[in-house]
Amino acid sequence: KAKQLGRNTYCFHDPEMLNQLEANAQTSIELREALNQEQIVVFYQLQFDSQGKAIGAEALVRWQHPEKGILSPAFFIEIAEHTGLIIPLGQRVLQLSCEQLSRWQAQPETLELTLSVNVSPKQFQQADFVDYVRQLLADYKIPPGRLKLELTESTILGNVLETVQKMHQLRALGVTFSLDDFGTGYSSLQYLKQLPIDQIKIDQSFVRDITHDPDDKAIVKSIIAIGNALQIQVIAEGVETQQHFAVLRDNACFAYQGYYFCRPMPIEDINSVLMSKAV
Ligand code: C2E
Ligand code: MG
Ligand code: MG
Ligand code: MG
Repeated sequence: KAKQLGRNTYCFHDPEMLNQLEANAQTSIELREALNQEQIVVFYQLQFDSQGKAIGAEALVRWQHPEKGILSPAFFIEIAEHTGLIIPLGQRVLQLSCEQLSRWQAQPETLELTLSVNVSPKQFQQADFVDYVRQLLADYKIPPGRLKLELTESTILGNVLETVQKMHQLRALGVTFSLDDFGTGYSSLQYLKQLPIDQIKIDQSFVRDITHDPDDKAIVKSIIAIGNALQIQVIAEGVETQQHFAVLRDNACFAYQGYYFCRPMPIEDINSVLMSKAV
């Protein structure tokens, strides 16, 4: 497993692990190539309010592999993290996202959409991350409020003081923050108090069984209640069915993302969905 690349405890007698290491090494070589060959692309998944109106999208990285086709991040994000390739990869995603935001700015139907971009811990911890974002916003003339950065607790845990500082610097620019995978970590409630968080994203693991697992339903209800009380917008991810949507809506969830509404898709498909909804 790629996770183990970080430790120094391989057993080289284990042929399966050796195969895995070789496969990972091969993937990282190919990934480096992919970045140069512009094979790193972004899919978009729309986010909706309870009226079914599109309010934004999440940028989700994909690798357009010459032989293997479209690869999902499960295949390469961990390897990118371990090799440091996550830095150029993350920069590419941010740049493509800002480019897209500036295109949306040019049309009245898409003017108010926000775009959420996942930021890896290593990427956020780069010394020049704030400057990098500031420069992109300026280059593409984007109202900073349109860009939402998705952080996870692992980013915050890495270096709390530094993270707080950077978040405030970015917040001062107008950039907003979503706390991704909310509920899956340790002590999220502290962060809600201390950090400039505009949105929490209920992890899909809580949404999945919401219609028949009373515990999951209770957790989701509580997260929504906390968010609403603190005036932090709550979005649910992994909304796959009408029933998921109904339970969430009945409990005053603000925004929704999931296959029930829209799959992650290339931008041309997203734009045609947006245009068809606009008429
Ligand atoms: P995430 O940020 O929590 O993104 C949500 C994932 O759930 C996405 O998987 C999305 O395609 C998937 N999803 C959306 N709706 C549904 C649904 O209704 N049901 C189910 N079962 N899944 C749904 P994806 O695109 O494979 O991305 C996986 C993870 O990879 C992301 O989780 C995020 O942590 C990471 N990732 C994606 N893009 C980037 C990126 O540009 N940079 C970094 N650092 N990480 C990224
Ligand atoms: Mg995300
Ligand atoms: Mg998430
Ligand atoms: Mg998730």
